[in-house]
Amino acid sequence: MIKQTLPDQTHIAYQDGELWIEDVRLSDLARQHGTPLFVYSKATMLSALAAYQRGFSGRKAQICYAMKANSSLAVLQVFAQAGCGFDIVSGGELERVLAAGGDAKKIIFSGVGKTRAEMRRALEVGIHCFNVESEAELEVLNEVALSLGQRARLSIRVNPNVDPKTHPYISTGLKGNKFGIAHERTLATYQRATSLPGLHVVGIDCHIGSQITQQGPYLDAMDRVLDLVQAIEAAGITIEHIDFGGGLGIDYNNPDEAGLPPPADVLWAQLLARLDARGYGQRQLMIEPGRSLVGNAGVCLTEVLYLKPGEQKNFCIIDAAMNDLPRPAMYQAFHQIVPLHPREGALSCWDVVGPVCESGDWIGRDRALNVHSGDLLAVLSTGAYCMSMSSNYNTRGRAAEVLVNGSQAHLIRQRDTVADQMRGEILLSAA
Ligand SMILES: *Cc1c(COP(=O)(O)O)cnc(C)c1O
Repeated sequence: MIKQTLPDQTHIAYQDGELWIEDVRLSDLARQHGTPLFVYSKATMLSALAAYQRGFSGRKAQICYAMKANSSLAVLQVFAQAGCGFDIVSGGELERVLAAGGDAKKIIFSGVGKTRAEMRRALEVGIHCFNVESEAELEVLNEVALSLGQRARLSIRVNPNVDPKTHPYISTGLKGNKFGIAHERTLATYQRATSLPGLHVVGIDCHIGSQITQQGPYLDAMDRVLDLVQAIEAAGITIEHIDFGGGLGIDYNNPDEAGLPPPADVLWAQLLARLDARGYGQRQLMIEPGRSLVGNAGVCLTEVLYLKPGEQKNFCIIDAAMNDLPRPAMYQAFHQIVPLHPREGALSCWDVVGPVCESGDWIGRDRALNVHSGDLLAVLSTGAYCMSMSSNYNTRGRAAEVLVNGSQAHLIRQRDTVADQMRGEILLSAA
């Protein structure tokens, strides 16, 4: 049976027998807005960001929040106001940044499948650069830029071929992977880029994976990227900025996960020492953290609908499901699940599952809980890759979201209505 514990370094804690986020009782929010409900702590996001800012103090560095982790407008607004740029992967994400008041000049556009229309729009609004992921994309970007009478700023995403030692679905920097340009093709690709009139090379980029808990893979990737910078610059091409991607893991309090990820400032002290040793410490640096900025800032509140004790398994059926919290079904990911009001008495073992008609719809297995139907639970560490990956499967409306700042709670997204879900659909006309 897996014991339920709270993560450190967050503003989520028990006080007077119930769970609070900052200065707000989570049960009050559940009562007011219903469940399932995502609740985020602004202070936790800003303290995660502050760890990176401390790590980079005195350096030329731009933090670009990888917004696919959580792209809700008010979350983007928090990071934009704190000076962040954004790493985007679609034209839709670009429009979200602009709607949230983000600065187009601090946007980097990643992703293996940018369309011409997406490139055009990004050039029109003047983003910082494109992270180009293939030689074919280079040619298309050149054409689109020329058609607008512009030169597109770009960096090339290289695949350093290092193993980030994470789940295979979230590992991106290995050879057999769809991302980036192979190490061996890098110099030739840079030479091609400088020969095209619609392109302006500004940087180099890598991103090796997600939920990385060790510093070794980062140091290896950094060495490989710096070797490439050396070779590219020896060929007479200037690299203005070096982008080391994102991927730093968070503590999910997973009993199966051996090592804890290093704090961002500790990791970057190591990486900057390596950069200094190799003479690149004063370069313009960029990073693209996602999960580590928002993951532990969010909880998902849910109500226990039914208890279904059985011979082999006890099921605790909650009103949140895989459409709200897709990570367990997708990656066998682990989330702590804790009661809002812990009860006295014996714990028993429960599989916590949602109402969706799939056996894959489980949220936590073998959890030690003392629960009754009607109780409220919090699924922890759900600030990243939950709402942004949520769906309407089973025609379930997507959850509402609240952002807490001290004692204030702001509703930042209304719960989907059924009408929201049917909008845009068209019945066949009567024959
Ligand atoms: C997803 C992604 C990131 C962020 O990854 P995290 O693990 O959330 O930090 C950064 N850069 C690129 C290119 C990505 O695709």
